[in-house]
Amino acid sequence: MKVRIGFLHKKPLIKVKFKGDYFISDEKGCSEKKLDESKVYEIKLIQSKPAEYEWYEKTDTVFDVGKLESHRDKYYLQEKSTRVIKAGRQIGNLDNFEYWLLKKTGDMDGKIYPSGDYKYKKLIKKEAYGEIFFDGVEFHNKINIIPKNEECSFVVEGVNVGIDFHWDHKEDLEYKGELEIIIDNSGSLTAVNIIDLEEYLSSVNSSEMRNDNNLEMLKAQTIAARSTVLATMGKHHYSDGFDLCSDDHCQCYQGISKISELSKRVTENTKGEILIFDSGIVDARYSKICGGITERYSTCWEDMDFPYLASFYDNYPGNEIKSPMSEEATQKFIMDGDFDCFCNTNKNPLPVSLEFCRDLFRWKTVMNAAEIKENLKVKFGIDIGDVTDLITVARGYSGRIFKLEVKGTESSAVISKELNIRRLLSKTHLPSSAFLITKSGTDFILTGAGWGHGAGLCQIGAQVMGEKGYSYKKILKHYYRGAAIKNLSAYTKG
Ligand SMILES: [Zn+2]
Ligand SMILES: [Zn+2]
Repeated sequence: MKVRIGFLHKKPLIKVKFKGDYFISDEKGCSEKKLDESKVYEIKLIQSKPAEYEWYEKTDTVFDVGKLESHRDKYYLQEKSTRVIKAGRQIGNLDNFEYWLLKKTGDMDGKIYPSGDYKYKKLIKKEAYGEIFFDGVEFHNKINIIPKNEECSFVVEGVNVGIDFHWDHKEDLEYKGELEIIIDNSGSLTAVNIIDLEEYLSSVNSSEMRNDNNLEMLKAQTIAARSTVLATMGKHHYSDGFDLCSDDHCQCYQGISKISELSKRVTENTKGEILIFDSGIVDARYSKICGGITERYSTCWEDMDFPYLASFYDNYPGNEIKSPMSEEATQKFIMDGDFDCFCNTNKNPLPVSLEFCRDLFRWKTVMNAAEIKENLKVKFGIDIGDVTDLITVARGYSGRIFKLEVKGTESSAVISKELNIRRLLSKTHLPSSAFLITKSGTDFILTGAGWGHGAGLCQIGAQVMGEKGYSYKKILKHYYRGAAIKNLSAYTKG
């Protein structure tokens, strides 16, 4: 099973060095090519026309095609401005599609959407096209550079790593598999790496795995990652010409340069294992530290929930939580440094490589009104004058805020979804949106719990579970309620 990873975007020029023999192919066909291993090849855009597209707001997601019927009235009312799109992939005999009900909206290019990124979709009216120059030849629309054997690899210069994060920088990275260069929607070049799913997984997991990590936790995490890749293929980057991007948006992928022996071994040990709920693949999200209670999908992403991403205490037996957390309960929860849970870094030992997580079970930071004003302007394009107050409008089941009102001297703004709130209240990202706000002059003191969105598997919790003797199967059953562990081969044979 192959996956398509977009890893370099909107470039006029891409520099690559090749090792081994490759076939070069364009729309017309294939030719074998001996590439000079000592040469840096420049793949250049000659001319292009960007795609024509329209922006749509997603009003609903439906999983069962039969249920589309009940939505008929809703979208027939505004027939001209609405569309239904089938997104996803068929994976063997697993139907992994969902249906989006879309309503036409204004231009959303380059904007962070205050109500959540996942709401807006770009639909192509006319594909981008153009000419690409590579090794003395002009190619129309795309080039496929296909390895002749397993030994082949290529190095791409200046790949952005950790976009938008504090470790944002450029590196030369090495890849295996096929290199496809496409004209992207902006009319520039995008590099896509077409690679085997298992090889991709060993790579993405390498950056998260250290030799002192618990092996059962690593296995559980690998199975979660494999499931999520399959569950989200063809959805996150619907109009982009690839399945997943190489940034944190999907999963951080840095080619084969960083594949560790440990990651390779764990991937092989769990080869093909995935999580299934009903007859669908589980979108098995995970984050670093839930803080003691896991969060629901709707607090972080779209306004819908999955039974397997429930909210529950991250301890044993892990009773489920049935309602959003009140202000009073949140206060008690966040101030409780002794909260009984697997991911309590104050109570449970951590391996050396995870020591950096210790201070993020409970944390405190200060944000000035002027910084918030600036972030609102720069990141969201919203100007409300000087920031005078932050008001919690709604909290999720784990105390994470998913609606925050920012009051200003001119007007006010509401920022929705946990990630947007974390973007607003930090130069990069606040550890989590489970926090209490105390005003002190023009400063806002934020006292919080956990690191990350908190939905699905809690990595530190899983590490501690593993050390306490729980198997990877038990860990997965704890974090993904009602999900079964199956092998992909059972669905893809014959
Ligand atoms: Zn992505
Ligand atoms: Zn946890």
